[in-house]
Amino acid sequence: MTTPARAQIEHIFTVDVEEYFQVAAFERIVSRHEWGTYPSRIERTIETLLDLLALYGATGTFFTLGWIADRYPFLVRRIHDAGHEVASHGYWHRRVDTLSVREFRDDVRASKAVLEHACGAPVTGFRAPNFSIKPGGEWAFDVLLEEGYRYDSSLFPIRRPGYGYPSAPPVPHLIHRASGSICELPPATTTWRGIRIPAAGGAYLRHFPFAIIRRAFAEHSANGIPATLYIHPWELDPEQPRMNVPFPTRLRHYGGLARTIPRLRRLLSEFRFTSAACALKLEAPLQPLAAKVSNAAD
Ligand SMILES: [Zn+2]
Repeated sequence: MTTPARAQIEHIFTVDVEEYFQVAAFERIVSRHEWGTYPSRIERTIETLLDLLALYGATGTFFTLGWIADRYPFLVRRIHDAGHEVASHGYWHRRVDTLSVREFRDDVRASKAVLEHACGAPVTGFRAPNFSIKPGGEWAFDVLLEEGYRYDSSLFPIRRPGYGYPSAPPVPHLIHRASGSICELPPATTTWRGIRIPAAGGAYLRHFPFAIIRRAFAEHSANGIPATLYIHPWELDPEQPRMNVPFPTRLRHYGGLARTIPRLRRLLSEFRFTSAACALKLEAPLQPLAAKVSNAAD
């Protein structure tokens, strides 16, 4: 039965398309020039996701690595042909806060070109690896605008070691820069005892009580504001090869993998999801989805 919340608003389903060996937590043990030597599992995990979304009549945005598109252009085409949006997760999965302006420009330009070639459609969205646009990294928005991107989903409005942009509004908003305006879609959060906590997907979806995740989406529905969910293909793959990493990393990365699909099913059955491009109505001039328009990221 359709709940009132499901009927009211479409949230934004996003996927960071990367292999199980490309996550930043493994950077020190898996160098980029070795990526091609690992057995690929991306096709089967993407198929699982596509089947799941089709089952619930949902669409999403697939932030895909340029490296993946270069090796599996048919997979990018498959995502596009299934009715989803293809966007960029960079080419080499490099944190933005480790790159120069020139290096970042080269990376987002290369990924856009190879993704557009693979799917035959414009690529206008970007998500930084590890949400790595942090305070001080706002120059990245100028580069994205100059390279033809129209929206970003890299500012995680939380305080956390390694990433986070605590002052960013926790709702979709426009960021005004010298190069123009770019729409920001922050991953979903909720507030607990006065503290803003992440509730958007990834490890939080697997490790937190489901009630917290559900509450975040219900709150956004009640306010008429889309919430952004993110997931990785390897999170739907409990059988993936294990990397020899310290215990905290093992727990964060491999803990609760069997919960991913059941929890996604619950969210997909209770709430409606679409792509960022559809939520933003990208064929029209950009408008903020939420009432709050902010220059906070200037
Ligand atoms: Zn990533």
